[in-house]
Amino acid sequence: MGRRGIKEFRAPEALALVAADRDRKPLVCPSCGTESITRSPKRPSPSATPELARIDLHCSKCGRSAAYLPSAPDPSRSPESPYHPDD
Ligand SMILES: [Zn+2]
Repeated sequence: MGRRGIKEFRAPEALALVAADRDRKPLVCPSCGTESITRSPKRPSPSATPELARIDLHCSKCGRSAAYLPSAPDPSRSPESPYHPDD
């Protein structure tokens, strides 16, 4: 089972929290209902480059945590993409 001393959200709770973060909605703990979610790293500004590193979401109230990897940016927007829709 889980690691000692670390509580994790149940899968549906973690999914809800991750979905809220992806949608840039306020982060409310799906387990205890507080807004005590600490995001690491901090949420970037909308104009910042997309994040590729693992994002941790931790509730400082009930101690549960979830982590996810943000999806890769849209490949059609990548300058390194071999796909050139304007050609
Ligand atoms: Zn909580």
